[in-house]
Amino acid sequence: MTEKTELRGLLPEEIAQTLQEWGHPAYRGKQIFKWVQGRAVREAAEMTDLPQGLRSKIDAEQWLRPLALSRCRVSKDGTEKYLWQLADGELIETVLMPYLRSQTRDRVTVCLSTQAGCPLGCKFCATGQQGFRRNLTAGEIVSQVLDITHRKRQSDPDFKVTNLVFMGMGEPFLNYDQVRRAIELFTHPEGQNIGQRRITVSTSGIVPGIERFAQENWEINLALSLHAADDQLRSQWMPVNRQYPIEKVLDACRRYWEQGRRRLSVEYALIEGVNDRLEDARQLGKLFTRWPIHLNVIPVNPVTESGARRPDKARMVQFLDELKRQGIDAVIREERGVDIEAACGQLRGAAHGEGET
Ligand code: SAH
Ligand code: SF4
Repeated sequence: MTEKTELRGLLPEEIAQTLQEWGHPAYRGKQIFKWVQGRAVREAAEMTDLPQGLRSKIDAEQWLRPLALSRCRVSKDGTEKYLWQLADGELIETVLMPYLRSQTRDRVTVCLSTQAGCPLGCKFCATGQQGFRRNLTAGEIVSQVLDITHRKRQSDPDFKVTNLVFMGMGEPFLNYDQVRRAIELFTHPEGQNIGQRRITVSTSGIVPGIERFAQENWEINLALSLHAADDQLRSQWMPVNRQYPIEKVLDACRRYWEQGRRRLSVEYALIEGVNDRLEDARQLGKLFTRWPIHLNVIPVNPVTESGARRPDKARMVQFLDELKRQGIDAVIREERGVDIEAACGQLRGAAHGEGET
């Protein structure tokens, strides 16, 4: 671990190691970790129980590197979208979805980015159309939650993110090590302490990543972006399918399920005239006759370049009914934040549209 690794990307014992090199006692590692991950501070000055000399050293080393907020947009349904500028100028987006029903704050979900851009180029996805810039570090991944939390706590000291979905920009399994480290940080009892069962990682079907995920000793949820039940169609919309075709991806997912931990979620974006026929629903259902999954049918979100449109409501209901007839546990998931381009597939990491706040 070099001193270049930012403070927000480090576990308590790793912080302690650097502190010892600097001549400070190891126990301060845990103390700093609590400030950084638990209380989400943005500057060393906020760590009030540290000696002044150590605070100055942290500043001098630029060890704590919060994200710079470029803009924040708020949807009429309460969803908020954050555009961040990273230290090297790259832009990423994060989405916050508070569930305000009945005034109980039982669920506050953050949708995280894991890469600036994405190399996989799915045709219906705005991120995919932007191309790939670079992988995010674990520090940059956790910072999305920490900086939102810091900002929210200014007006609401009890604010807490309770659920995480790795469904923002990028393919998490092409940045496995940093995503894994971010999960360790998020779930640490002295940090945000987010429960494993409240975290979902979504993949477009990177088989080695799914296999590695299945071997992990944890209960993190896995979601698969399937979108087509036929290899030819899937390859057309998701080029990654040429490398990892449906059967291979589902074999890997099935092994994950057989580890006995969690049920797999499958995402299927309905695109008018492309994958929304009853025949498509039949073919889709057949893939899952012998193991239980949870299927989210999502009306595709509009992305300028793709030309993909949602089918009308009646057609979506027919599609769903056909799946249910086959015994599949399927729901239609209405997306949030479409008006601010914060819904699935609409993140592009660029200032775009009106309604700035
Ligand atoms: N790269 C990962 C995670 C990020 S994408 C993955 O592909 O799974 C998050 C989800 O949004 C995926 O299920 C993706 O297929 C879906 N998505 C992308 N573009 C979409 C669109 N225009 N409408 C609806 N869902 C979309
Ligand atoms: Fe990348 Fe996921 Fe978008 Fe495909 S859907 S381009 S894998 S972010």
